Amino acid sequence: MAGSGNTNKPEAQQRHRQRMQRKKEVVDAAIARADQTKGLLLVLTGNGKGKSSSAFGMVARALGHGMRVGVAQFIKGRSDTGEEAFFRRQAGMTWHVLGEGFTWDTQNLERDSETARRGWGVVQKMLRDPEIDLVVIDELTYPLKYGWLDMGMVLSDLKGRPPMQHVVITGRAAPQALCDLADTVTEMRDVKHAFQAGIMAQQGIDL
Ligand code: ATP
Ligand code: MG
Repeated sequence: MAGSGNTNKPEAQQRHRQRMQRKKEVVDAAIARADQTKGLLLVLTGNGKGKSSSAFGMVARALGHGMRVGVAQFIKGRSDTGEEAFFRRQAGMTWHVLGEGFTWDTQNLERDSETARRGWGVVQKMLRDPEIDLVVIDELTYPLKYGWLDMGMVLSDLKGRPPMQHVVITGRAAPQALCDLADTVTEMRDVKHAFQAGIMAQQGIDL
C-alpha cells in the first residue's frame, strides 16, 4: 500500500495523535457552543437525487425515538412507493397524499390551485398540532413555483407552528424566502443520474 511504510513510524503516529487532539478540541468547542434546542425547519432542494429519500431517513429516525410523524406529499398522481408502503404500517405515523385522484393539470389553473389549497389545509392541521413532532412536506416547491399556494400564507403557517415541531420540506428550486426562513438548507447537486443513461426508475432506489 502506498505510503503505508511511513505511518507505522513513532513520529508519524505522534503527529497523527496531535492532529486528532487539535481536531477534537475544535469539535468539542463547537458542540459546547450549540446549547439551544428548538423545532427546526429543513429545506432539501437542488436537481440531484436524494431529497425525498433523505426526508424519509429522518422519518425513520424520528419514529425510532418514538416521535410522532406526519407526511404530506404534493405529488402529481398516485405512485406506489416503498416508503409509503413501509411507513404507513408504522405506529405514530400519518401519511397524506395530496392530489390523490388528480393529475396536476396546468391547463386548468383554477382546479390546480383549488387542489393545492385543499392540500395545504391538511398541512395546516398538522402545523397546528403540537402532538406531531415532525412534519414532512414532500415536493412543496412545485405548488409554490406555479403560484398555486400563496407564499406569504405558507411562511406564516410555518412560523406559527409549535416551537418544538420539526418540518422538512423537499423539492427542486426552493424559493429564496423559504430558504431564508429555514434553519438548515441542503442543495443536492446532480453529478450524474442513471436515468440519463436510459435506465428506468428502479424499485427500492427511485420509488
Ligand atoms: P429521491 O426520492 O430518490 O430522493 P428526489 O426527491 O431528490 O429523489 P425528485 O425531484 O423528487 O428527486 O424526483 C423523484 C424521482 O426522480 C426519483 O425517482 C428520483 O430517482 C428521480 N430523480 C431525481 N433526481 C434526478 C435526476 N437528476 N435525473 C433523473 N432523475 C432524477
Ligand atoms: Mg422528491
